[in-house]
Order: sequence, then C-alpha cells, then structure tokens
Amino acid sequence: MIDKTMFLEIINKIADNIILNKDLLNELDMAIGDSDHGSNMARGFSEVKKKLETLKDSDYQTILKTIAMTLISTVGGASGPLYGTAFLKASSVVGDREVLDSNDLIKIYEVVIDGIKQRGKSDKGDKTMLDCIIPAYEAFKSSVESGKDLKEASKQAEQAATEGVEYTKTIKALKGRASFLGDRSIGHQDPGATSSHIIIKTISDIVNN
Ligand code: ADP
Ligand code: MG
Ligand code: MG
Repeated sequence: MIDKTMFLEIINKIADNIILNKDLLNELDMAIGDSDHGSNMARGFSEVKKKLETLKDSDYQTILKTIAMTLISTVGGASGPLYGTAFLKASSVVGDREVLDSNDLIKIYEVVIDGIKQRGKSDKGDKTMLDCIIPAYEAFKSSVESGKDLKEASKQAEQAATEGVEYTKTIKALKGRASFLGDRSIGHQDPGATSSHIIIKTISDIVNN
C-alpha cells in the first residue's frame, strides 16, 4: 500500500532524481535531439518540488493534477505536454482514496499509457518513453495477477523498464525530433524512455525500502 506520506516521498524523490540526472538526459538528447530533455525535465520538477510544499494536506487527485499543470506550463518541448497528460490522466482515476494499492497502480498505468498514445500519436516501438512505460506496465500487471505484492511487482516493473530503455537503442525513432535522423537514430538510447525509467525506478526503490 502507498499512503499519503509515501506518495509525497515518491514525488519528491522523483523530482530529486530527475534533477540529479539532468546532464545525462541532456547528453542523451544531444545525440538524437536538441540537448534539452534534462533541462526541460529538471526545470519542471524543480517547480513541482516547490508546489509540493503547499500540497501536503491535499488529496491524490489534487496533487497529481497540480503536478500535471506545473509540468505542462514549465517543461516545454514534446515531453512537457506528454508527461503533463500522463499526470493529468493519473489524477482522474485515484478518486478520493486514502491509500493506493496495486490495482490502483494498474489503473494509473493504463490511463497514463492511453493518454500518451493519444497525445503523442505514438505507440510501442516508436523509440519513445512508451518503450519504457508499456513493458513496465505489462510486467507490473502480470506480476500482480500471479499473486505478487506491490513490492515485488514494482521490482518487476523496474526490471522491464530497464530492458525497455535498452531496447530503444536497437530501434529507429518514428516520433519526435529523433525521427528526423531516420536510421541514424539507431544505436542511441531514447532520452524520454530514460526519464520514464528514472520515475519507475524511484517508485520501486521507495516501496521496497
Ligand atoms: P523536444 O524533443 O521537443 O526537445 P524533449 O527533449 O524534452 O522534447 O523530449 C524528447 C522525448 O520526448 C523523446 O526522447 C521521446 O521519449 C519523447 N517523445 C517525443 N515525441 C513523442 C511522441 N510523439 N510520443 C511519445 N513520446 C515522445
Ligand atoms: Mg529535446
Ligand atoms: Mg526541445
């Protein structure tokens, strides 16, 4: 179970880890984009950290919606509206819960993926953040369905997310700036898949600690 304290810790740590990995994300984006994915994400999550201080007593829906709006207005690029959509969709399924369980996370994954697919007109195999998030979701869901608890399912999701990021090195970008490179995008790791991995790994680390 994820209670409010853990939830706030997860968001805060996601922000810290994105900020810590700013240079890495910029470097990955230098190879197949315009070198700004780390700066974009770090700017957005620095704002999220500031907002978080005023949201301690808010419900999950309000917190997730505020994160969404903050990312939409500060991240920019392709990733800002996409992550914004992801958090906005997540806010729509948490209702007025006290705690979040594995089934809530499955629902969150589902609306996040649908939201990104619609907004980005993208899918698995396009060399985007979806190549991290979709395998993570599939691993999480099958883990829960086979009776594993939230901790184990989150570890499985993280493992699949890592493999998804690796997979992006082997394929050609079909969406976003990287697609302008065509075959020359092959061999490079997708920056957005990498930031999604940071988010999924943070969730696993915190539920498992
Ligand atoms: P920009 O490319 O506008 O500079 P960023 O560098 O912040 O934006 O983000 C780039 C990342 O956004 C890519 O690595 C990719 O994962 C993701 N992305 C780009 N276009 C799409 C899309 N249509 N669908 C899903 N993800 C996308
Ligand atoms: Mg960029
Ligand atoms: Mg840009």
